[in-house]
Amino acid sequence: MLSIDGLGASYVDDPALELPALRGLAARGARARRMRVIFPSVTWPCHTSLVTGVSPARHGILGNMVFDRHGGEPLEHFGDRNEVGIGAETLWDRLRARGERTASICWPKTRGVDAIPDNIPEFYEQELFERYASRPLWTELAQAGLPVDRYGPWSAAHALGPMQDWLTLEAARHVLATRPPRLLLLHFLTLDSFQHDYGIGSPEARWALREMDALLGRLLDSLAALGRLETTTLLVFGDHGFAGVETRHHLNQMVRELGLLELDAKGAHTKRQAWVAGNGGAAYVYALDGAPATAVARMRERFGALPGVEVIGPEQYPGLGLPAPAPGSHVPDLILAADDGIFFTGHATAEAAAAAPVYVAAHGHRPELAPLGAAFLMAGPGVRTGAALGEIGLLSVAPTVARLLGIELPAAEAAPLDEALEHAPR
Ligand SMILES: [Zn+2]
Repeated sequence: MLSIDGLGASYVDDPALELPALRGLAARGARARRMRVIFPSVTWPCHTSLVTGVSPARHGILGNMVFDRHGGEPLEHFGDRNEVGIGAETLWDRLRARGERTASICWPKTRGVDAIPDNIPEFYEQELFERYASRPLWTELAQAGLPVDRYGPWSAAHALGPMQDWLTLEAARHVLATRPPRLLLLHFLTLDSFQHDYGIGSPEARWALREMDALLGRLLDSLAALGRLETTTLLVFGDHGFAGVETRHHLNQMVRELGLLELDAKGAHTKRQAWVAGNGGAAYVYALDGAPATAVARMRERFGALPGVEVIGPEQYPGLGLPAPAPGSHVPDLILAADDGIFFTGHATAEAAAAAPVYVAAHGHRPELAPLGAAFLMAGPGVRTGAALGEIGLLSVAPTVARLLGIELPAAEAAPLDEALEHAPR
């Protein structure tokens, strides 16, 4: 399973882009017209659904950013900086139960997962790599001369993303050559970073995608050299597409204006009765301990007055695949969903907003918004050559992989993509 972060459905057919590896796979396998992702259409919940087949209501990873009411602080899933695990059964759990190996390089939400014997989670801090990457693998990569001591810095800076992705691929090639797993998970980041920074279809994004395609080609070459290409099924997909950004709303500034948040000169909060966790085209609004009874209504009115912003109350959460509010949870009191062109941040001051990188494209919006649709293709043993799928759902990916592996994911919320599979009931 190769996730090319931010690979929107429209890139694969762009005639001005040379993508020999991706198109070669598409030609000998199956592809979807578009993959509808989940809400919010951000990286950490999407990747968790890709390996569980369940929505955030079940797996508990509700956003890149949430507020942890129990801990009383904002919580970033982003960068795997916390101990919160996946609350649902994963593909790697089922494989381990059968005594089979999973390897994972740069896949979100794998910190501390001992069911993955060869595991380098997706981090930004070198210290976390050193602490949580599987020790034998890490040592072997260093001994092979790979600069694993730079994984953190290369992951933390968008401009160095091509080196991060190269290192991810090299780690995968090492694992394939030494301890070939039953399931390999890989995640490349540069296309996502360059779309945020330079725009959808920008020269930088297009360069990035060609680089990702070249890495995929190198992976295919490695499999061929190991004699494994004909026996390996490949799934390549994005976790979401992108929408352009024209208007930015710094929502915690508005919370301050409502008198529900106060900061000192250094930006530390001196009063926090409400907080908004920005997730790009979505935002989570929390009334916190000590908030006045009117806080939610006032925020609903304030945010609902913004053009192109939909305010969603808890009665609609189940339909979005999100859990009902519960004491001490990460579940917000309100959710904001943005139209195309609108972007939310959690910046609480103009200074903080000015100091942050300016994204010209983003995601997180409702998955029904067309440009948020991701690419999906698969090829190899078990896959019907030439199968043209229409729009598929992201929750179908994990049960499809499970079927290919001959395992079950009983909790999966969608059926496998039987029309793309050989020997499957149709
Ligand atoms: Zn992503």
